[in-house]
Amino acid sequence: MISLAGGLPSPDLFPVKELKKASDEVFDNDGKTALQYGMAAGYDKLREQVAQMTRDRGVDCTADNVAITTGSEQSLDLVGKLLINPGDTVLVEEPTYLCTLDILRTYGANLVGIQMDEHGMRMDLLKKALKEHPETKLIYTIPNFQNPTGHTIPNARREEMEKLAIANGVVILEDDPYNRVRYSGKAQFPVKHFDNTGNVIYLSSFSKFLVPGLRLGWMVADPSFMKKLIPMKQSTDLHSDNLSQYIASRYLAENDVTKHVKQICDLYHKRAETMMKELDENLPEGSTHSNPEGGMFLWVKAPETVNTVDLFKECIKHHVAFVPGAPFYSNKVKQGTFRLNFSNADSATIKKGIDRLCDAMKEYMKK
Ligand code: PMP
Repeated sequence: MISLAGGLPSPDLFPVKELKKASDEVFDNDGKTALQYGMAAGYDKLREQVAQMTRDRGVDCTADNVAITTGSEQSLDLVGKLLINPGDTVLVEEPTYLCTLDILRTYGANLVGIQMDEHGMRMDLLKKALKEHPETKLIYTIPNFQNPTGHTIPNARREEMEKLAIANGVVILEDDPYNRVRYSGKAQFPVKHFDNTGNVIYLSSFSKFLVPGLRLGWMVADPSFMKKLIPMKQSTDLHSDNLSQYIASRYLAENDVTKHVKQICDLYHKRAETMMKELDENLPEGSTHSNPEGGMFLWVKAPETVNTVDLFKECIKHHVAFVPGAPFYSNKVKQGTFRLNFSNADSATIKKGIDRLCDAMKEYMKK
């Protein structure tokens, strides 16, 4: 079975040796503090380092605006818990990250999907939705290499999104775990760069550019949010794994992170190119795919007559797997869609996997 389904970063480039060295040094030098309870907002030094990384991306912030979390997944949950009451309207990209949909549904959100084009969420449709739903509380966006589509929102649209949010008194939740994994095109500013009033809560993570197993992410937000989010974090798990935070901090201080990220980008670029070339040559007529400039996923649109759950069953017979599109939709599912992952298989496996997938599609479509 070749799985192009999961969302795993490639372990081929996990800096195991460097993390072991950082870990040994933590035990040798900071063992007693790293193994003690820590602060709810996170290890001070790591908060400083994250604030610096965030400033480097054009966001005006200090360590006081940063809280370390147990991955972006926890940040999403905390923001949902803080802001969403049953019946509150949340505008989301359609389709979007399915775990966020689950979190928002758990807190009783009324989800309204905003269609995208190849440049992400459409601002004309966002404007229309804000008019139709004046009660909207939150806009949720994944601006870089969106999961599942791979789309990226250009700066001008980000600025417009922020202007629309301000004009309508709405908070933006910017979920940005993939930003460093850009292998082509030009880096865009975070939406938070355009925030002068503190209405954008920015989330990112160590999972995609370092390792997911440390379970570390962060939130960057205005003190008005921080003063509620940090006690909420404390009542959830006291603080994120202190040992992980010390190790990550030492790793960042002692290694050339830019060089490490470049290696990830080069590897994913090669894998994405292989996947796109293979799809271009073999996808049945009437099917298209997105062209991501980074991240880990691309999105296939087959004719709407294709039920991708049935197609998935056909693919399993051909020993290849993908994720059908349906669970990524907040409301009306667009049939014929599915997500492919290119980060966690080598190029030869991707080539074989796409050949199997396209054979299965052709067989399914003949029926
Ligand atoms: N947001 C998005 C858009 C994601 O794709 C993921 C991981 N799949 C997460 C958040 C959660 O990441 P983390 O490992 O930081 O919890």
